[in-house]
Amino acid sequence: FDDRTLHLIFNFTRTPRGVFIMWRDQTEAVRFEERKDAFLAELSHDFRTPLTAIHGYTELLMARHEGSEKSYHMLEQVIQESERLERLVDNFLDYQKESYTAEQLSVTTFALRPLLEDLMSGYQTTSPLHAVTFQTNDVWIQADEEKLRQLLHNLIGNAIKYSPDGGTVHTQVEECGDTVVLSVSDTGIGIPADALPYVFDEYYRVDSAAHQSIKGTGLGLRICKRIAEAHGWGIHADSVYGEGTTFTIELHTRTSCPLPQTSFPLTS
Ligand code: ADP
Repeated sequence: FDDRTLHLIFNFTRTPRGVFIMWRDQTEAVRFEERKDAFLAELSHDFRTPLTAIHGYTELLMARHEGSEKSYHMLEQVIQESERLERLVDNFLDYQKESYTAEQLSVTTFALRPLLEDLMSGYQTTSPLHAVTFQTNDVWIQADEEKLRQLLHNLIGNAIKYSPDGGTVHTQVEECGDTVVLSVSDTGIGIPADALPYVFDEYYRVDSAAHQSIKGTGLGLRICKRIAEAHGWGIHADSVYGEGTTFTIELHTRTSCPLPQTSFPLTS
């Protein structure tokens, strides 16, 4: 019993009739957690090693490529799919390891522009059927760079995944006093208003024919939220169903800062 329950029993009966003390042996539970962590660490290594090899050899083949444009495009597809698998593995394993707490962040100070340039040039190569654009000033932030990268991969990956070919995906960084507002907008299928409050929930996927026809795990946005929360950032989604979606992250918390208004359709 906790203090409050004991207090109620004593007050109710006036004279105490007895006290229950319960002991729970946690040894097995702790051992299980340790075994789970070791297993996940091994699994993570086992998954990543072949993926890194596939990625590396495919890049090598592309660099020395002398075949047709069609076969070069196939190699690009292998890179794209192996990157997708790498991200899924990262998401799933990191999520299981619960490595999204403030204590586990490795915070440094870095510039956003090179990070975005690097991310975007990757997507521009692997998603040639979408217009992938970005706009940023020279902003320096304090964050766990790897985790921010993972967060942006999840948002930009979704923006591309849920936008038909020919769509636009735009990442924007705006400064407003102490607040850095980072947004990822797309001209995709959108999210119905009644589903918006749930998109950050674990394993949630929008229940519409258009969404269900696209593969997913329902973990990506949950991870984005965890990464944002570990940093103390705000994250939220706006959408017009059938027109597009914007995810916004506030990198510092100054509430007087107006959030960017996105108009659909986007212009690239
Ligand atoms: P998933 O792996 O299913 O994409 P997420 O957690 O990343 O999982 O997203 C949860 C759900 O939110 C998705 O299944 C999808 O229905 C919806 N969603 C996320 N991002 C977008 C987007 N940019 N446009 C439309 N729907 C989206």
